[in-house]
Formats: sequence, structure tokens, C-alpha cells
Amino acid sequence: MRGLVINGHGALDRVEHRDDVPPPELRRPGDVRIRVRAAALNHLDLFVVAGLPGVTITPPWVLGADATGEIESVGSAVHDLAIGDRVIVNPGLSDRSCEFCEAGEHSLCVRFGLLGEHAPGTFAEYVVVPASNVRVIPRGIPDEIAAAFTLATLTAWRMVVTRARVRPEEHVLIQGIGGGVALAALQICKSLGAHVWVTSRSEAKLERAKALGADETIHATEGVDAAREVRMRTGRRGVDVVVDGVGSATWTQSLGALARGGRLVTCGATSGPMVETDMRRLFWNQWSILGSTMGNDAEFDAIAGELAAGRLYPPIDRVYALAEGRAAFERLGEAEQFGKIVLTV
Ligand SMILES: [Zn+2]
Repeated sequence: MRGLVINGHGALDRVEHRDDVPPPELRRPGDVRIRVRAAALNHLDLFVVAGLPGVTITPPWVLGADATGEIESVGSAVHDLAIGDRVIVNPGLSDRSCEFCEAGEHSLCVRFGLLGEHAPGTFAEYVVVPASNVRVIPRGIPDEIAAAFTLATLTAWRMVVTRARVRPEEHVLIQGIGGGVALAALQICKSLGAHVWVTSRSEAKLERAKALGADETIHATEGVDAAREVRMRTGRRGVDVVVDGVGSATWTQSLGALARGGRLVTCGATSGPMVETDMRRLFWNQWSILGSTMGNDAEFDAIAGELAAGRLYPPIDRVYALAEGRAAFERLGEAEQFGKIVLTV
């Protein structure tokens, strides 16, 4: 089959389009094989190409976490999905047997993994996943929208709804608008009736975020302190919640922007993972720092419902053919995108 693979870790020139990739086989009775129609890039894919500690790949390794397609075959234990069903894929792999899975918290699984990182990915003609990792969606939803939807929306949903519990009228600051998770968080916060602030180094991205409902924008150029900006515009109060997937570049300002009792929720650290925190400010202001990763089955059901109802649609940056996959990776690596980068298969 055709696929976008790496044979070893390194720079983006490692990313290769090949037509001799062995197709994945059903391994367990609960597996399904999907004929992939479109797939979408995530920052995670850049980390996989570069290499992650503790993660080993077997070449040729198929990249990719997000996808949409049709069920092509099912294992003997799969009864609720039929050949030809149109589906989206949850890239989070859990063992379904540990205490956290038993409690319905699949992204807390002690053996949690991700498609494209711990199992062969979606940037290929076929991908195999457990049936519990797919949801059927209506046929009318365009392939690129469905492909771009799941990872970013699931991540943002858990951050905003489950972890930070954003309420109507609350002020939420979203760092680095333009990436998939940040944009999904913006849309979810607006649907909850929150007042949303966004930051970006790009004026053009701020304008587009406004069109999606952002109430306040902060142009984060050299010398601009987002925390000071927020305090100035809120009469020194600060915001209730900060959504920060940027990491070291924004951490101090994110905390500094929080009101007393505020919550900072993070799902990633695209600019770097090591940060310094003044603990005196943390306890005195009674802030909560919340980590979040992917989502559980109930959250997957919730976002699949939002997609089917047309309430949440991911903005698309650009669409490439699978054969142009390396160019798509380069686009993501430059961080110039606004919305998701999609591959059609
Ligand atoms: Zn588990």
C-alpha cells in the first residue's frame, strides 16, 4: 500500500512517500481495518519524526494519528460496525483493563499509547485500530473536516470542559492561536458562553481568530507581556482560565495572567517542556495547574456528536496529497499554519 513513512529518526527529510508499505493486518478479534480517505497532521507527528525518549519504531514506520475513512474489514468480535461505515478515529490506545480504564478514564490508562507513535499510523491507505477507537459519522461531512477533527477537538474538549470546567461568562486566555487544539478550545469556550482572549505573534492569525469569535486579542510580539496586557485590560483582575499548549515560551505569562483562584490547563509544550514557577505566587493566589491528555470514551462520544450536529468544525489550513506529505510536514514545522494541515489518501 502507499504510505508516509520514516526508516529512522531525524530531520523532516526522513519523511518518505512509498508504495511498497506492507498493509496492517487485524491482530485481535476486536480490531477493525479502515480504508483511509484523509488524515491530518498534529504536532505529535513532528516529535515522532525527531524521535521520542522510550519510543521505538520498526521501519518502515507509518506516521500519523488522525484519520477518517470507511470500515474495510472487522474482527470476529466486532458486531456494532459494518463494512462501509464512515468513521473517525480516536488515536488514543488504551488496554481497556487497568483500574483507570475500568473507571472510564481511558486516557489515564497505565499502558496508554498513541496511533503513529506506539502503533503504525494513519498516513497510509489502511490503518488497523480497536473498534472502541472509532465512531460512525454522517456521510455529508467533508473528508478533510472529519480527518482534522478528532485529536485536536478531543484534547481541547477534555481540557476546557472536563479539566478546567469553563463556565459561562468566565474569561479564558488561549495561548498561541492557530494550532488545532487552540482553535478547538476557542470554539468550545465560545459555545460555553465564555469571554475568550487569544494570543499570537501573527496579526493575521489574530484577525482570523476574531472571525471565529475571539473577544480579545493580544499581539505577542517581542517585549509584549501577555500577563501585563491582561491585567491592564481587566482592572488588574486577570482571567479565570488559561489554556496553554505552548510551554516554556508562555508559562510565566500564563500564570501571571491568572486571577486569584484561576486554573491553568496544559496539554503540551511545543516550545519546550522545562519551566520555572514561583511557588509563593502559586499558593498565595490559590491557582490550580491542570494537566490533560487526549480524552476518554465519553468525551469521544461527546465530540463525535458535536461533529455530526455541525456545531464544531475544525478550520483547515491546507490540503496536500499523501505523496506531498513531506511538504505538509515542512508547513507544520514552520508554525505558519492557521488550522489543520490535511493529507488526502
Ligand atoms: Zn488501561
